[in-house]
Amino acid sequence: MDQQIREIIVDLKSYLEYLKGMGITALPASESHRGRVSSSTLEEIRMALGDCRRCKLHRTRRTLVFGEGNKKAKLMIIGEGPGYEEDVQGKPFVGKAGQLLTKILQSIHLQREEVYITNIIKCRPPQNRNPEPDEIQSCYPFLIKQIHAIQPQIICALGAFSAQTLLKTDAKITTLRGRFHEFTPLESPIIHGGDDINKTSRRVESTTIPLAESSLRHGKGEDKAPSFLTGFAGIKVFPTYHPAYLLRNPERKREVWEDMKQIAKWIVNSDQPSQPAGEERR
Ligand code: URA
Repeated sequence: MDQQIREIIVDLKSYLEYLKGMGITALPASESHRGRVSSSTLEEIRMALGDCRRCKLHRTRRTLVFGEGNKKAKLMIIGEGPGYEEDVQGKPFVGKAGQLLTKILQSIHLQREEVYITNIIKCRPPQNRNPEPDEIQSCYPFLIKQIHAIQPQIICALGAFSAQTLLKTDAKITTLRGRFHEFTPLESPIIHGGDDINKTSRRVESTTIPLAESSLRHGKGEDKAPSFLTGFAGIKVFPTYHPAYLLRNPERKREVWEDMKQIAKWIVNSDQPSQPAGEERR
């Protein structure tokens, strides 16, 4: 080993022993790296997930459904989790709800290939039950990295689970939908359990973890401030009803149509070149 490196290690060792002698047993992580998401491409994120066994869903899933679409999409669609068809095909929203989603997108002149589609959790829960806290927790860092890689203008959150996880709230989808919300992700998710309106016939009880109980919330200890991530400035979350809910409640389609028009208008406006007030375009 290079003599210089040897000397650095000896120095470092004696410095650490000196600190230990002073009663200091831990070193703080660099502030400059806190709250930052390391930037990765979607391919790298998929590779990092690998043959994921981070939660129990790996035992029952057939395929991990990562997401698909335009890597530079202005609009990102985030649903809840894969269902039967998605699990079989390895693609998000390809079952009945997915076919309706395709039509909803077409209603604002968008093709599926123009947007990026994924879910809060990447593996199908058995019998399509609600995602459980440990499952959301395992997938969340990868979802955040996907959003960071794509840098969409708008995330359309489909249904209560998606909206509540992305917005860190237990508010009902009826109050969240139809508005733009700022996207300010945390290092760990606050987990809520959807609400009745989002349940498919096979989905079971919702899970809301109260602040005091949740070590997922800000690590251990309720008194810790939540740690927000940077690198997401300007990204909006726009919740609307889940297409599976619309299949059971077609009378709510009108509201989704209104929601989609707002999204389309936002995208068109953001495409207009901005110009300083009073200046003519040449
Ligand atoms: N429902 C979802 O939330 N996601 C899918 O991919 C399919 C159905």
